[in-house]
Amino acid sequence: MEKEVIVVGAGLAGSEAAYQLAKRGIKVKLYEMKSKQKTPAHSKDYYSELVCSNSLGSDSLENASGLMKEELRILGSMLIEVADRNRVPAGQALAVDRDGFSEEITKILKNMENIEIIEEEFTEIPNDKIVIIASGPLTSDKLFAKISEITGEESLYFYDAAAPIVTFESINMNIAYFQSRYGKGDGEYINCPMNKEEYYNFYNELIKAERAELKNFEKEKLFDACMPIEKIAMSGEKTMTFGPLKPKGLINPKTDKMDYAVVQLRQDDKEGKLYNIVGFQTNLKFGEQKRVFSMIPSLENAEFVRYGVMHRNTFINSTKLLDKTLKLKNKDNIYFAGQITGGEGYVTAIATGMYTAINVANRLNGEKEFILEDISEIGAIVNYITEEKKKFQPMGANFGIIRSLDENIRDKKEKYRRLSERAIEYLKKSIKGV
Ligand SMILES: Cc1cc2nc3c(=O)[nH]c(=O)nc-3n(C[C@H](O)[C@H](O)[C@H](O)COP(=O)(O)OP(=O)(O)OC[C@H]3O[C@@H](n4cnc5c(N)ncnc54)[C@H](O)[C@@H]3O)c2cc1C
Repeated sequence: MEKEVIVVGAGLAGSEAAYQLAKRGIKVKLYEMKSKQKTPAHSKDYYSELVCSNSLGSDSLENASGLMKEELRILGSMLIEVADRNRVPAGQALAVDRDGFSEEITKILKNMENIEIIEEEFTEIPNDKIVIIASGPLTSDKLFAKISEITGEESLYFYDAAAPIVTFESINMNIAYFQSRYGKGDGEYINCPMNKEEYYNFYNELIKAERAELKNFEKEKLFDACMPIEKIAMSGEKTMTFGPLKPKGLINPKTDKMDYAVVQLRQDDKEGKLYNIVGFQTNLKFGEQKRVFSMIPSLENAEFVRYGVMHRNTFINSTKLLDKTLKLKNKDNIYFAGQITGGEGYVTAIATGMYTAINVANRLNGEKEFILEDISEIGAIVNYITEEKKKFQPMGANFGIIRSLDENIRDKKEKYRRLSERAIEYLKKSIKGV
């Protein structure tokens, strides 16, 4: 195959991918449309624009996002190197001067041998060239239509209305219990029972909790299909007990009675380390989610690996469509990277851009696939987004998806440090020859 690759989108994923390919001697045509046409969230002409926060998250190895950044440093990420150079004071977080960060990346890409930048909207996917689609959560409509022709519409999602996810080990099972409604199924749901007083305390805080502001382009469609839990609550003080908090069909084995209300949690990963709160898609601010949802009995110490969100977000059902190199299973020339894979957030976008590019470069250079196991945080994300699941929602870096340690360490910080040490050691071994 020709040693030329098309990369679509010079966002965080596409910029890293283009750089990594060019560095490995592959010619890149990098398409970016923003000088002529901007998505509703982008406002500048330069590349790798940070559309919202200027923080790339924690830089500590006691945090999974910090670990992912460290893995990216080891792999030679250009974007993380530029971020480190443009760092602004932000405690343990890696926050950057957003203009300095993006301007420097733009300059590097524009001056790089092997990269040709085409400032156009990319709309036709050829069959005879390798294409990496990294057009982000706000992929242009025309390209979106092409992707949907290839993947089938049922494999594309237009927005993200996700419920929070917590770790199993942080759920208080002295209160919660496993059971399926009306005994149907294998008792796979975790049920958090509430008495009347607990329900009303929760309800009263939920209806007045602070919400995140929606952008104008998100307001139009968002709530048609999926009502946030706080809106359900606001429609009547008992409404939730006929909807997501319905107690019917569940008997609490600790009391042999039906409770006043029950919050259900559904397994979210193969190993049962993560659980999502059923029906709790929400637009509350993250801090408010922690405060209010921790009022649910048995979730008082819940560890949230992802908060609920509601915003426009285009992503494919990677769990069905992509193989472990992030290539379409049924099309040999199309790869994906960035938020469109369902990998969530700035650093995950950089990571998938890096990972896909290494795989494409290895393929064109006749080297073996670069597959990282879930011992590393990058491998854990790739594993999460490519592993079959019933309901796929985007996921960012977190320790809930990484492979568990052999021993049980109770101290969280110590456990995270050990997971990071193991990941870094594993990654260093894996990159020989990359
Ligand atoms: C409103 C909003 C706020 C967000 N806030 C945060 C946050 O604070 N923190 C966080 O970690 N994550 C945030 N995210 C998620 C964020 O989008 C990703 O983390 C990150 O930007 C994804 O990187 P990406 O490279 O996949 O996409 P992007 O960075 O969006 O890059 C995609 C690029 O592709 C271009 N493009 C699209 N279609 C075409 C086409 N057909 N032809 C050519 N070019 C095209 C776009 O112009 C864009 O430059 C936010 C997302 C949205 C929508």
